[in-house]
Amino acid sequence: MQKIGFIGLGIMGKPMAKNLLKAGYEVKAFDIVKAGVDEVVSAGALEGKSNRDVAAFADVVITMVPNSPQVKEAVLGTDGALFGAKPGTIFVDMSSINPIASREICAEVEKKGCFMIDAPVSGGEPKAIDGTLAIMAGGKEEVFNKVKDILAVMGSSVTLCGDIGAGNTTKLANQVIVAANIAAVSEALVLGKKAGVKPEAIYQAIRGGLAGSTVMDAKAPMMMDGNFKPGFRINLHIKDLNNAIDTAHTVGAPLPLTSSVMEMMQWLKANGYETEDHSSLVRYYESLSGTDVRREK
Ligand code: NAD
Repeated sequence: MQKIGFIGLGIMGKPMAKNLLKAGYEVKAFDIVKAGVDEVVSAGALEGKSNRDVAAFADVVITMVPNSPQVKEAVLGTDGALFGAKPGTIFVDMSSINPIASREICAEVEKKGCFMIDAPVSGGEPKAIDGTLAIMAGGKEEVFNKVKDILAVMGSSVTLCGDIGAGNTTKLANQVIVAANIAAVSEALVLGKKAGVKPEAIYQAIRGGLAGSTVMDAKAPMMMDGNFKPGFRINLHIKDLNNAIDTAHTVGAPLPLTSSVMEMMQWLKANGYETEDHSSLVRYYESLSGTDVRREK
């Protein structure tokens, strides 16, 4: 079995690393915040002293950090993983980052005789815990084939979408759909409430029809409970939409709908909600119409 270095033990990284341990992999883990490391060490991981130290141990180095600058820091920075890695090490970046950055990091990794795939995920914390994430990968097929079994421990679907960067391009498409879907659910529930129909009744009546979605099932109950504990934070979704808009403008694909939802998320950030779950987008619509969609006690 390949030895795994795991970097980034936040909301997602912790359960993903624990699932690898449960599947019998040896894992050495590091995060710049010690609490995440301690939790995974108590589940059986070895404690890494730095990103470099983790890579020196590993055949496969997984990164699960917020965005492109953090992946660059963790892999290419001072005491970064690439400096500890032996030739042939495979870097699997599972963070959601700009696909252009994935290609840049891969080029540096290959200069050292190592390999890289990008493999961002969808499904959030519950699916990270269950090991049922949707994983979308980019990279060379022969490299992907060497880490496919490891990815299958963390996800129930693992799809190679193309060359390096293709995983993150696919993830941007995913985030565009999720953002617009959350906005539509918010808009619809607030409309119903203002027109005198209980949001719960609307949700139950339509969830099995064409308007139903995984997003609606995950987020409408949170909106009605006023439970905005993340999950997936507004500031991470802003990061993804920035990457989507940046990539789209580079390739010449206008994103009018995404740009509107981006401005709603900027309203949330300006009002102090950026660390809440992205279901708190409903607050924007509630503020526009002077109502809320909470369940009646
Ligand atoms: P998080 O902020 O909870 O965790 C990120 C971790 O990375 C933190 O513990 C942080 O200390 C660590 N980190 C940052 N820089 C580092 C460095 N240089 N070296 C080592 N560790 C470093 O974020 P998360 O929610 O776990 O998300 C991680 C990635 O997964 C993001 O790209 C996010 O967009 C993506 N994602 C998240 C979800 C979700 O529901 N939370 C779902 C799908 C994808």
